[in-house]
Amino acid sequence: MTERIFLSSPHMSGREQDYIKDAFTTNWIAPLGPNVDAFEREIASYVKMEDAAAVSSGTAAIHLALELLNVGKEDTVFCSSLTFVASANPILYTGATPVFIDSEENTWNMSPDALARAMKEADENNKLPKAVIIVNLYGQVAMMDELMNICNHYDVPVIEDAAESLGASYKGKASGSFGKFGVFSFNGNKIITTSGGGMLVSNDVAALKQSRFLATQARDNALHYQHSVVGYNYRLSNILAGVGRAQLEVLDERVEARRAVFNRYVEAFADIDGIDFMPELDNTYGNRWLTTLTLDPKKIKATPYELIEEFAKENIEARPVWKPLHLQPLFENAMFYSHDQNGAVSERLFEQGLCLPSGSNMTVEQQERVIDKFFEVLQKEKQSLQTSKSN
Ligand SMILES: *Cc1c(COP(=O)(O)O)cnc(C)c1O
Repeated sequence: MTERIFLSSPHMSGREQDYIKDAFTTNWIAPLGPNVDAFEREIASYVKMEDAAAVSSGTAAIHLALELLNVGKEDTVFCSSLTFVASANPILYTGATPVFIDSEENTWNMSPDALARAMKEADENNKLPKAVIIVNLYGQVAMMDELMNICNHYDVPVIEDAAESLGASYKGKASGSFGKFGVFSFNGNKIITTSGGGMLVSNDVAALKQSRFLATQARDNALHYQHSVVGYNYRLSNILAGVGRAQLEVLDERVEARRAVFNRYVEAFADIDGIDFMPELDNTYGNRWLTTLTLDPKKIKATPYELIEEFAKENIEARPVWKPLHLQPLFENAMFYSHDQNGAVSERLFEQGLCLPSGSNMTVEQQERVIDKFFEVLQKEKQSLQTSKSN
């Protein structure tokens, strides 16, 4: 079998061991410790926010953000529909009700039109959401000016799910630094990884202090073990934070590498009619965590599913675009606001979308294997189309 090409695999810098060794030498294995403190400061400084709290996952960070905003049973939370389920699962943890918002075509992220309609209706019904979770998908920043204007107008706080977009920026401002809270993930497949981990960032230092309290079982200030509110075991270990520090040192290189992968795909497929890559707004800089594109079924016979299966035969990992959350059985009763009257944009992106291997450690030769296979499948489909026509 040929060597496997992953969608997005961990890419170590080599410096991780130094930080881990340091933790061992000083016996700061757990809990917390100097790597955690330093990693928090370094991330906060990278995204130019006042503070950051290191946690065990991006999902935990979203959950804590919702808790800090006092989201509970009677509340609703608006959330992008085209995303990984982890964006919305924490809404269910709080007992609140998610309402899903469609994508628009310019960024594939939350549609300001749909959000405006949802907000107006909620306002008229005296039931504004307690928070809006805006996802920056595949490393692409959403139409933040428009979205923030709407949320600010109704005075609803924003949680920016920037799990996939660390290193991206919008008009020079870091992805994850627009809302009341920003969330990053260091899961194994993300642009940098601690094997598992997350970060909550904010300019509200007191809120982040509270998040650390909640994330360590909400222990009251007493010598004996006393607790007044529900707590969680959500903090990041000092060893994993060490991995994160080494990874953060090479983040900008990783973004460059992913963008180079993206550019090579764009160049290779430039002459294929019917392929559209995920666009990027002017004045934004995506990290191109995954190269994603859509196949126009009027022009290309191969479906994303066929391509994924053909790639799999060659030991190449490709994936469909996230299935919108409003289509998930888990959320079948949830409300959904579409971009306009012409059908949901997120549904089209799901049906036509494909994610290609995009790791920062992918070699040019590996990428050529992906590109060659892509052409081969398209060519085969074309021939079978012509044969069936002439028959
Ligand atoms: C990965 C991811 C998360 C969750 O992060 P974990 O660290 O895996 O919990 C949340 N939202 C999005 C959009 C993600 O891609």
